[in-house]
Amino acid sequence: MKRFSLVYIILMMLIIILANIVFFTVKTEIDYWSFASESFIFITFLLIFHNLSELKSNNTIHFILLAGFSFILVSMLMDTLNEVLEHPIFITTLFEDTPQVLGFACIFIAIKKWVKFNGAKTTKLTELSRIDSLTGLFLRRYFLELAQNEFDLYARKKQPFSILMLDLDFFKRVNDQFGHACGDKVLICFAQLMKESLRKTDVVARWGGEEFIVLLPNTRLKEAVEIAKLINMHTRNKKMACETNTITITVSIGVIEMHDEFEHLQTMITQADELLYQAKNNGRDRSEFALSN
Ligand code: GH3
Ligand code: MG
Ligand code: MG
Repeated sequence: MKRFSLVYIILMMLIIILANIVFFTVKTEIDYWSFASESFIFITFLLIFHNLSELKSNNTIHFILLAGFSFILVSMLMDTLNEVLEHPIFITTLFEDTPQVLGFACIFIAIKKWVKFNGAKTTKLTELSRIDSLTGLFLRRYFLELAQNEFDLYARKKQPFSILMLDLDFFKRVNDQFGHACGDKVLICFAQLMKESLRKTDVVARWGGEEFIVLLPNTRLKEAVEIAKLINMHTRNKKMACETNTITITVSIGVIEMHDEFEHLQTMITQADELLYQAKNNGRDRSEFALSN
């Protein structure tokens, strides 16, 4: 199809030029240098047309660009004919400048649209790489980037921060009893509850499955424990509706505050995880924390 269009354009141009040379009087002294440079421009245009099909992911932009370059091509053809013909005819003179203006206007519009389209696409891709599609919370990788920034800030300025590691209790039972779809709904509902329980500056992410993690910037252990207990209470009291069922769940939480002994962020997260499993072992639906050494 691509090759066919190229051959088609070349043939059309040659026929038009030949027809004009045959039917009209041509100059005896043709400016061959100008003729050669226009041929180069023509080849460039063919290459542009050849590559335009790559833009077919956006039909509007593809169409406007195609129209723009076609206008300029027409204008160029008329220009060439005007160079060759002894007495340029009305039609070639008329169509030399107008299509050029239209062509550049189309290309300008298409480039504006292309920049906007690409910007939106990049934003979408960035969002997809950062946000969990089920819960709308951040994904683990992006969380780690943000937490690392906070970790580095602590190293420079000793600005405190804390981390909560959370795991829903007996979540497998929710799936077994109410079905996977209701399990998903509970995860969405819990994510919403977390957002409502936290401050704007806190960062909450889905760590994986039914595990979540929270970064509490500028927060000491005491306040972090209060926040964790609030999440415990809100979760315990929340009645989640799914189909004809009313589901209640609980959550276990490990709470840790950053201190000098943590050389890496991962060490801090591992300790939060250990505290979480301590909360599981101590009966679930609770928060466990470790006092700084
Ligand atoms: P515990 O209190 O010890 O954490 O028990 P649990 O049942 O929550 O723990 P377990 O790790 O045995 O089970 C977690 C379950 O979470 C198993 C898995 O099928 C379910 N799960 C993980 N991701 C999803 C999800 O995206 N949707 C649903 N519906 N279930 C999920
Ligand atoms: Mg788990
Ligand atoms: Mg669990």
